[in-house]
Amino acid sequence: MADPAKPGDPARPDALVVGAGLAGLSCAAFLADAGLRVHVLESSSVAGGRARSWADPTTGHSVDIGPHVLLNKYPNMLALLERLGTADQICWQTDHLLTVLDKHRPIRFKQARLPPPLQYINNLGRVLPTVPLHRLLTNIPLTLRTMRSNPADILRLDDRTGLEHLRANGVSQAFIDWFWASVAMAFINVPVERCSAASMMRVFAQALGHNDVTFGFPMIGLSDLYVPQTIERIERAGGRVRLDSPVAWLLREGERIRGVKLADGESILADQVVLAVPPTGMEPLLTESDRLSGVARQFEPSPYISCYLWFDRKLTDARFWARPWSPKEFNTDFYDLSNIRNADTGVGSMIATNIIWSHRANDMSDEAIIQATLEEISDFVPHVKEAHLLASVVHRIPMSVPCAKPGIETLRPATTAMPGVYLAGDWIDTGLPFCMESAVRSAALAAEAVLHSRGRPVSLALPVPTPGGLSRLVSRRGN
Ligand SMILES: Cc1cc2nc3c(=O)[nH]c(=O)nc-3n(C[C@H](O)[C@H](O)[C@H](O)COP(=O)(O)OP(=O)(O)OC[C@H]3O[C@@H](n4cnc5c(N)ncnc54)[C@H](O)[C@@H]3O)c2cc1C
Repeated sequence: MADPAKPGDPARPDALVVGAGLAGLSCAAFLADAGLRVHVLESSSVAGGRARSWADPTTGHSVDIGPHVLLNKYPNMLALLERLGTADQICWQTDHLLTVLDKHRPIRFKQARLPPPLQYINNLGRVLPTVPLHRLLTNIPLTLRTMRSNPADILRLDDRTGLEHLRANGVSQAFIDWFWASVAMAFINVPVERCSAASMMRVFAQALGHNDVTFGFPMIGLSDLYVPQTIERIERAGGRVRLDSPVAWLLREGERIRGVKLADGESILADQVVLAVPPTGMEPLLTESDRLSGVARQFEPSPYISCYLWFDRKLTDARFWARPWSPKEFNTDFYDLSNIRNADTGVGSMIATNIIWSHRANDMSDEAIIQATLEEISDFVPHVKEAHLLASVVHRIPMSVPCAKPGIETLRPATTAMPGVYLAGDWIDTGLPFCMESAVRSAALAAEAVLHSRGRPVSLALPVPTPGGLSRLVSRRGN
C-alpha cells in the first residue's frame, strides 16, 4: 500500500476528482486553472465516460460511443470548448433546424425570425398533411400554460408523467403520437408515458422561448474535443489523471472527509473530493446511512444502441435526419458523418444512428440490428439498397442518461453533498435535462463550491438561457 501523503506534503493533491467523464475532467480543469493540484481517479482504462470516442478496430476511423448533438443553447459546454481551443470543431446546422422523415416524406423544419414561439408558424403547411389543424390546435392551451410557468411551476409537475400532463391539458392523442412521443424519446430518452412531465415541460419551455436554436455536430471524435486538452491543463498545474484506478469508498473521520480508498487498497488523502460519477456508480462509494445513497438508488439507466455503417459510395448530402419514435421501429436519429467530419470517414457515406431506450433490441443479434437499420436508412435514402456495406459496428451502451421518470427532478442532488464532498455529473440539479451541458454546468458549480470553501469565491457556471419573446412577456415572475 502506498504511504498516504500528509498535509503540507508536496505529493498530496489539493483536491481529488472521482471519475474522468466530461463532468470530472471539466471540473478538474476548472480547479487546475485556479492553480489547484488535482488528482483525477478513473475506474476504466480510458477517459471520457459516456462522451468518448475511439478508433474503430475494423476501419480505423474515429467513432463515438454513439453520435452526440450539441445545441447553441449549451453556454457552459461551448465556453469550455472555447477555452480548450476546440469550439471551431463543431459543425452548426444553420440552414434549417432539422429534417424529420414522416411516413417516407422528409419535412424540413425551419424557424422564422419572429418573436418566439411564433418562429414555428411557417412550418404549418409542412405539418398539416399529417396532423389535421384541429388536432394541432389542441396543443395551444398547453403552450400558453408552459409560457406562463416559471421554473418552480414546472418542477411541481414532477409528480406526474408527461402523458398524464398532456391529456390533462387537452392535447389530442394524434398530436401526442406524432409530436410528443418523439420529443420525450429524443430529449429525455424515456417514453412519454413514463417520463416526468417536469423534465418534458422544461425542454418545451426552452423550445418555446428561443427562435434561434441550432444543432451542432462534432467534426472530430468526442474525446478529441476535450479529453487531451483538459488532461494537459490538469497536468500543467501539477495534477494528474490516473486511469484503471477505481475508487472503492470514501475515507472519513467522523463528518470530515480524509480522502479515498482505491479498490487495490491504496489510500489517497485530500480534504476535498468531487464525486463525478453517475448515480449508478454512487452507491458503492457511500454507506447505507448516507441519504445520498438512497437518492442515487432511485435513478435508472436509459440504454442505447448506436450503429456505425460504412458504405462504398456517397448516399446523401444530409448531415442529420430523424424519424418519429415508434415502439415497433428502432433508430430515431441518423448522421451521415461524411458530411460532418473533417477527418477521413472512408470512400463513401459513414452513417451513425441511435436506438434510444433500446430494451426492445436487447435480444437481437448485431446482424439483425444492422439489417433493421439498413431498412430504416432506406426510407430516407432508397438507393442505399444498391450500395455495398463495407463495414458496420454495433455499440451497446448500458446508459445514455438516467431516466427522468416522475419524481426524479425533485430528487436531483445539489453540488455540495457533505462537508468536503462535492458532486458533479449530468444528473446533478442544474436546471437542465441530463446532457453534456448539464455535466459541464455541474462541473462549474462543483468547482465554484470547492474554491468557495477555500476562501476563493468565483463565478464559473453560466446560467440556463432564459426564454425570451412572448414567453418573457407572459411568464410569471419568480423561480
Ligand atoms: C450514446 C449516447 C448518446 C448521447 N447523446 C447525447 C447528445 O446528443 N447530447 C448531449 O448533450 N448528451 C448526450 N448524451 C449524454 C452525455 O454523454 C452525458 O450526459 C455526459 O457524457 C455525462 O458525463 P458525466 O461526466 O456526468 O458522466 P460519465 O460520462 O458517466 O462519467 C463518469 C465517469 O466516472 C467513472 N467512474 C464511475 N465509478 C467510478 C469509481 N468508483 N471510481 C473511479 N471512476 C468511476 C466512469 O467510468 C466514467 O468515466 C449521450 C450519451 C450517450 C451514451
